[in-house]
Amino acid sequence: MQLRKIEDLELTGKKVFLRLDLNVPIKNGKIQDETRISEALPTIKYILERTSRLTMASHLGRPQNGGSPADSLEPVGAKLSELLEREVVLFPDYATESTIQLLNTLSKNQVMLLENLRFNPGEEANNVEFAHALVDGYDFYINDAFGTSHRAHASVSAAAELLSADRRAAGYLMQKEITALSEIVSRPAAPFTVIMGGSKVSDKISVILNLLNTCNHMLIGGAMAYTFLKFKGIDVGSSRVEADKMDLVETIFRNAESRKVQIHLPVDHLCANEFAETAAAIPVSGAIPAGLMGLDIGPETQKAFARVIRESKTVFWNGPMGVFEWPKFSKGTMSIAEAMADVRGKTVVGGGDSVSAVHQSGFASKMTHISTGGGASLEFLEGKVLPGIKLLMK
Ligand code: AMP
Repeated sequence: MQLRKIEDLELTGKKVFLRLDLNVPIKNGKIQDETRISEALPTIKYILERTSRLTMASHLGRPQNGGSPADSLEPVGAKLSELLEREVVLFPDYATESTIQLLNTLSKNQVMLLENLRFNPGEEANNVEFAHALVDGYDFYINDAFGTSHRAHASVSAAAELLSADRRAAGYLMQKEITALSEIVSRPAAPFTVIMGGSKVSDKISVILNLLNTCNHMLIGGAMAYTFLKFKGIDVGSSRVEADKMDLVETIFRNAESRKVQIHLPVDHLCANEFAETAAAIPVSGAIPAGLMGLDIGPETQKAFARVIRESKTVFWNGPMGVFEWPKFSKGTMSIAEAMADVRGKTVVGGGDSVSAVHQSGFASKMTHISTGGGASLEFLEGKVLPGIKLLMK
């Protein structure tokens, strides 16, 4: 099965419904990070070069009870207007009218942006009536919202199904994400190293198990490493451990052994006597004494991990090596980004915190691909067929 691409459609003069992921962080009406908007631009511009009849739609955050002004896409509309040099008309109320009627009222140099899709309960409920209001009357449905493709919501699922398969397609960002992540799961150049970090092994067990099918090395850091060390009988003091998840760790070790994957665990740590930003960073080699908790990987581990990374042809990274939000405990995470920047091969970063960490490191431009989809990229790497992507296949 192949993805139907936006380039496969004849869009000239047609009416196009475009699902985007414009879910950007906004504080006091100001956009904090425009990445998702700039990543959406190639698809928007491609469409606007062929037709002015465009309706764009996205969710923003997780609004409660119908949403509040703080959840409005208004700042996003203003930014888009500036970047596209056209008037972007935000339609706040489209629950009662079909959006095509609203689009028909616009002039040729105006484009439409629907207000936050999640203001309407029909969106998350994958409601068919709501889906009809969204896309009835359009010639084409384009989905470029990779970050939402794991959710069977109305604008991603029910709406797409209302148009025949030959009238829906993937935008450029969707294509880029799928190509980069497919290479990780199906044909990575060896040696392939996976770096997993973050808080819980239980959150990432399915991704870990699936990537063990294709990787040669797995480097484990972050809080999840302490559950692995504990399983091996190494004292971890008061570090965060998922004591009830030892069976998962056992499964990971068993699968790694049968697939000849080498699992690398931290050999030294930066510890603290309390979980606080102001706590002193205490270096510890080997077992962690009682009363101390590991909050970052230590310098020996950083060196060992960097050596494996630099010798790899493909690297995938998800999850920080420590509490990278606190400068004292961020070095381990930054050392991963630095080593990845030297790789002469493919480097892919996926998942929310590692994405912000790689930006913080200053090495973002050295990566082959940084996924815009947190949950979606992880579910994709679990090997799942995501509902939003399934509907874009030929
Ligand atoms: P995740 O969302 O699972 O990728 O987890 C990311 C979070 O894990 C970040 O907020 C980190 O601060 C946190 N984290 C990473 N390492 C540790 C650690 N050793 N102890 C406690 N929290 C950690």
